[in-house]
Amino acid sequence: MKKQKDTKLRIDAYRKVGTSAALQIPIYFDKLPSEIGGCLVRDSHIVISEEEDYQTQLFVYCHELLHYIFNHIRRGAGKDRVLWGLAIDHVVNNLLTTVLELESVNWVEQHRFILFRDIPDGPAELIYRELQRLVDKTKKEGKTEFKFGGKTIRLVPLTVDGIRPPKHFTEPLPISTGSLYEFGNHLKSQGSVSADVLREIDQGYKSQVPWERVIAARILSFIGKKVATPTYTKLPYYQIACDVRLAGNYKKEFNLVTAFDTSGSISQQELSKFCAEYQRVEKLVSEHWVYVIDADIHAVLHNPSYDELVANLRGGGGTSLAPPFEDVEKRKLKPDLFVYFTDTFGTFPQKTPTYSVIWIVVRTFQTLDIRVPFGTVYYID
Ligand SMILES: [Zn+2]
Repeated sequence: MKKQKDTKLRIDAYRKVGTSAALQIPIYFDKLPSEIGGCLVRDSHIVISEEEDYQTQLFVYCHELLHYIFNHIRRGAGKDRVLWGLAIDHVVNNLLTTVLELESVNWVEQHRFILFRDIPDGPAELIYRELQRLVDKTKKEGKTEFKFGGKTIRLVPLTVDGIRPPKHFTEPLPISTGSLYEFGNHLKSQGSVSADVLREIDQGYKSQVPWERVIAARILSFIGKKVATPTYTKLPYYQIACDVRLAGNYKKEFNLVTAFDTSGSISQQELSKFCAEYQRVEKLVSEHWVYVIDADIHAVLHNPSYDELVANLRGGGGTSLAPPFEDVEKRKLKPDLFVYFTDTFGTFPQKTPTYSVIWIVVRTFQTLDIRVPFGTVYYID
């Protein structure tokens, strides 16, 4: 993994896309498998194949920048990775060709980037839903392929094909609403903005504070790493047919611990939001331990059902944050993630745990400037 001179690339991308994120996002140049050709993106930085020519690198960089400013990765939490990937790649490449005129449609197709012809307008969620509908219909009819936007999409069973995602996954950067705002202004300065682009920008804004999605995304990206299905900018198959892997073969191997020390500040509505979000990823979680904190531990639930979870959650509030961590140690649980709902008013445990911890805190005047000795704080607004 090399950092190479990227000033020209950044400035050219900034001129095209008009958002200062182009000047700031970490860029890595790396050898990528040739069948991927392009590059891979995760939320927080952009990887570009060092073997592509400058023109392709610039296209790929602008492509990933647009994924970033539209919040595409997080918007895809809980969705089928490959179908979502097709939808967002189309949206982005369509923008790059028709609105920003970075390259021609022909160039994009020759370079095997995803671009469908004559399909319904976005946002990406609509295109995704249409793809999903077609996959369901195709399966129901016992067929293995369907046509969409001038391409044939074949359904193949999920296999791990030896392509490993790169090793540099990190915490996602907070998405900056500023980049989206800049991008919207940039487009307006160039002329009129079409309705589907406006809807895409809208969806980007709406997904700014998705604490419940952060949890789901953490679980999904963990599972994703284990099954080694990276996000492609190019599919590893050819111009005419692209193969679609079906989700559903994920192995359960995620251990989750949640603790609710709610002090009355967290509303029933927020709790049910968590429960609803949790339901979506439940099938990926093998062990879920739940602590309900009153003065001390009020209840410990193991793999509770949705109803059990809702019935047991109530606003209490302890004076020490440590008991659930101690109990985790006592039971020798090995969580992949510990999610603590709390106002963090209480004594923290002495020892820093070896697993990742997320604190979910309701934003009030009292919690504006909280400091935690470990873990990451996400606010409920
Ligand atoms: Zn992409």
